[in-house]
Amino acid sequence: MATTNKDKEPTAKDFAVKVVKSKVLTWALGLIGASAIPLLLALLLVVAVFAALAASSSTNTGGTPSSLAQELIPPEMLALYQSDSVKSQCPGLSWTIVAAIIHLESNDGRNKAVSSAGARGPSQFLPTTWDSQGRLVVDVGMPYGKIPDGAGYGLDGDGDGLADIENPYDSVPATARLLCANGGGEESTLPNAIYSYNRAWWYVYGGTSDSGTPFEGVIPLAARLGSTFLTDGGLAGSGKRVTYDGRPNWLEAVPSTNYVCDYRIVADVQRLIQMGLTVTACYALSGHATDGEHPLGLAIDAVPVDGNWDRTLAVAEAVGWRPSCASSGCASQMPSPFRFVGYNGYPGHGDPWNCLCGNDAHIHLSWMHAPSFPGIPAAWVEVM
Ligand SMILES: [Zn+2]
Repeated sequence: MATTNKDKEPTAKDFAVKVVKSKVLTWALGLIGASAIPLLLALLLVVAVFAALAASSSTNTGGTPSSLAQELIPPEMLALYQSDSVKSQCPGLSWTIVAAIIHLESNDGRNKAVSSAGARGPSQFLPTTWDSQGRLVVDVGMPYGKIPDGAGYGLDGDGDGLADIENPYDSVPATARLLCANGGGEESTLPNAIYSYNRAWWYVYGGTSDSGTPFEGVIPLAARLGSTFLTDGGLAGSGKRVTYDGRPNWLEAVPSTNYVCDYRIVADVQRLIQMGLTVTACYALSGHATDGEHPLGLAIDAVPVDGNWDRTLAVAEAVGWRPSCASSGCASQMPSPFRFVGYNGYPGHGDPWNCLCGNDAHIHLSWMHAPSFPGIPAAWVEVM
């Protein structure tokens, strides 16, 4: 199993040297800039750039569409998924989740069929979910409104006065509205919200459908549609740096596992578990690279909870792993807090088809940290 693997990640020491070099470079560039223009102006520029970044991220959760998204989805539907009409129904929800659902439900509206259960339109709403009386088209009697009785999830997204179950400009924002009502705006409750859209875990995470055919799953597909996952920057979100608070018991049990990690990454590990992972290692003084992150409690090994390796692929992509950098573990090429991902293409890591390592297939994730020694808590750790 993964606990016996001999991880050959780039060492934490190598990483520390790289960080120092890049910091020196940044500092040197900063000095050149400061000498060339007044310091205040330089600061204002920095503030403006950050403000612009913040503004763009708040209007486009889910990031830029991938080339796959542009290949799979007609341009007008891709624009609709990312539009304010959808976004306003559920500000915390990534457009990629809505896109994945509509793509899987109706091939982005191209499949006009009514399901055996009576679900209709691009979003495959049941008429009674659309409107409490089961009406397919409701005159909402007000511009840009929801169905007046409030008992259905249908709405008038394009402002023509009708909430039409067959009209994507109405049904796609209604999908966001329904997801949000079930917790789709929060990462921790998102899987349950997707589950309530179509009650099967293979629908959420992928697997074998009830009819026995392989099904990609909303979350794995969403991860492939956007350059990021649930929020901008993917799971690799804030990169908040947490300094060691001096507690003697700095190793903390990860709930529902047999493993302990540095207390600062436990919440992150729980979020990864929610994506369908089973942790097979965290803190370990031996059996792993002695100068890697396991001896610091700052790395996990994991496998899919049910044997569906789409889950580990979705996690890898969500933290910024790409096939193009896999051979180096994408070290220093992912947004904080992840330092290194061992997955398909990195020796000794990956799914059973890519990892030539017997029954030791697994994904490895390391967090960013200050240099330290085995068994000694790092002075700082970056977290999601
Ligand atoms: Zn590992």
